Amino acid sequence: MSRQRIVMKFGGTSVADTDRIKAVALRVKRETDAGHEVAVVVSAMAGVTNQLVAWTRAVATLHDAREYDAVVATGEQVTSGLLAIALQELGVPARSWFGWQIPVETDDAHGKARIRNIPTAELSRRMADGQVAVVAGFQGLGPDNRVTTLGRGGSDTSAVALAAALKADRCDIFTDVDGVYTTDPRIVAKARKLDKITYEEMLEMASLGAKVLQIRSVEMAMKHHVRLQVLSSFEDKPGTLVVDEDEIVEHEVVSGITYSRDEAKITLQRVPDRPGVAAAIFGPLADASINVDMIVQNVSEGGGTTDLTFTVTKGDLDRAMKVLGDRRGELNYKALVPDANVVKVSVIGMGMRSHAGVAQRMFKALSEKGINIQVISTSEIKVSVLIAEEYAELAVRSLHTAYGLDAA
Ligand code: ASP
Ligand code: MG
Repeated sequence: MSRQRIVMKFGGTSVADTDRIKAVALRVKRETDAGHEVAVVVSAMAGVTNQLVAWTRAVATLHDAREYDAVVATGEQVTSGLLAIALQELGVPARSWFGWQIPVETDDAHGKARIRNIPTAELSRRMADGQVAVVAGFQGLGPDNRVTTLGRGGSDTSAVALAAALKADRCDIFTDVDGVYTTDPRIVAKARKLDKITYEEMLEMASLGAKVLQIRSVEMAMKHHVRLQVLSSFEDKPGTLVVDEDEIVEHEVVSGITYSRDEAKITLQRVPDRPGVAAAIFGPLADASINVDMIVQNVSEGGGTTDLTFTVTKGDLDRAMKVLGDRRGELNYKALVPDANVVKVSVIGMGMRSHAGVAQRMFKALSEKGINIQVISTSEIKVSVLIAEEYAELAVRSLHTAYGLDAA
């Protein structure tokens, strides 16, 4: 095989201790032995970032975000140095790179910075000379000349951004699962690992609860056409490729089923059914930075009133109730009813755009199990329903079967 340029990213569990770091070094050496140019992006050791975050909070709950970044960026600095040493021990030329040394240029949104640019001339030159670049993930340099971090899980995004900047042939994300599954294997024993999935599907899955990749990393891979692979650092087998649509010859109608317990439902009973009501309800919620996801409004009953139901994240439920409770006089509803006992189940698939009846199959499968659908929402490649929480697993399992996803 010809010489390739590869970015390899190792997550926290893959570099959790020095033995694992040595194992990572061996994995990297296989690629350099094959003649490839390699840049490695590392996370902090598992648990370390949580500890660093906890320390900043212990000193002051409200603190200077620039100093938060100065503290939490250190986890990745340790692992990048250790991996460079481990590689050198194996005779592989390597050096560590902190964000500011490259530099990974970001904006100044400390704690959740976005990457703007990564100059790669020096990295490229050294990689071409056979030196492995071991890059500390999750961190960059802001325009204020201070260290920034990219938000939790951000080293995925570091890896994809570096792969895009280096025009790498592949970006391999090594993690503690061996790929992307049709659904959560912990609740459906017959879940299957997908060989390939499109960026669009992966984005939906990531935002609907599958935690394999940081959402922003998938957005960036899609934009720059980075060929991403999610694979296990503990097993030696191919993972799941995240690719452009045209790389997938035959689409399943549905490629995955996700569920999210992080949902809560609010119903406003008997609100006046007149223009401006939705704006009066959702405006103040938006002002309070509360994201509303699914919405249904019932048909008006006789008296010119209607019920309006919508969902927010569980974490926003109390605040949303307060915002609407404070406006009872103005909104003039009869009752405000919260329900945190709900789950959102979604089916995702590019094939939906060209197949009719996908939603219907979902409704039928759920009705056969006697599961009541409370709210529905759809997009081009997704149908989501809100159901009572106790049916979550039954629903996911039934749908997995109904769409023919069960492993043989
Ligand atoms: N260490 C950081 C975190 O735990 C970044 C990452 O691992 O992606 O969020
Ligand atoms: Mg991660």
